[in-house]
Amino acid sequence: MYMTSKDVIFNVDKLNLWYGTNQALKDICFKIEANKVTSIIGPSGCGKSTFLKVLNRMIDIVPDVKIDGKIEFKGKNIFSDKINLIDYRTNVGMVFQKPNPFPKSIFENVVYAPKIHGIKDKKKLGEIAERSLKQAALWDEVKDRLHESGMSLSGGQQQRLCIARALAMEPEVILMDEPTSALDPISTLKVEELIRELQEKYHIIIVTHNMQQAARVSDSTAFFLNGELVEIGETETIFTKPANQKTEDYITGRFG
Ligand code: ADP
Repeated sequence: MYMTSKDVIFNVDKLNLWYGTNQALKDICFKIEANKVTSIIGPSGCGKSTFLKVLNRMIDIVPDVKIDGKIEFKGKNIFSDKINLIDYRTNVGMVFQKPNPFPKSIFENVVYAPKIHGIKDKKKLGEIAERSLKQAALWDEVKDRLHESGMSLSGGQQQRLCIARALAMEPEVILMDEPTSALDPISTLKVEELIRELQEKYHIIIVTHNMQQAARVSDSTAFFLNGELVEIGETETIFTKPANQKTEDYITGRFG
């Protein structure tokens, strides 16, 4: 399929990464399409989380990392000195494996970043909280208890709170690292439904070791193995007619 540059949100070109002498990403090249859910699958240790950390430059805080190659976000090199990291990480939000609400109220969790960015107006903060919690499909469950602790919510609700917290800053991209691995099946389904809804407004990249989840929520799937990108394609194709034997072996459960 032909993609114009407008349809490409990240262009990853010959990306290599080493932790000390251990090479974790090897010559990764691919384009991540806009307004789609892209999932990254592969066995443990194949470099999925590392790749996500590079995408929002969280990798910068890990010592002794060497990177070469290029990643462009909407045509701009994300490793350039000209990138303002705070703005960039706001625009490319991240949701982690374990729900990690702050020990603050539900309301304060959501408006934390907007407040840090200088928004003080109570009405405006209230609007941001309502919009974000609605987008995260949590509003109805918490609207009468906004001043209770975020920690008082169930695990699934906490994860949707963390998604609301990321949405408060109106990012363009949401990166999710195994966002449901700590959740029960019902909460997992809720988060998966939410991912599908958010896709209309955001570019979403999700790392998952759960292949059924990748098949349910994503449009494109990338299969990583030993730090290499083996194959990327439409999710349906990857799960029914993969081009590479290694992909076939993985999705049919022969290893991993
Ligand atoms: P995955 O998310 O697919 O399980 P990771 O990206 O976590 O894989 O890990 C890829 C490789 O990089 C592994 O060999 C892992 O041990 C190594 N690695 C990950 N994080 C670090 C780190 N902070 N320091 C050193 N090595 C790391």
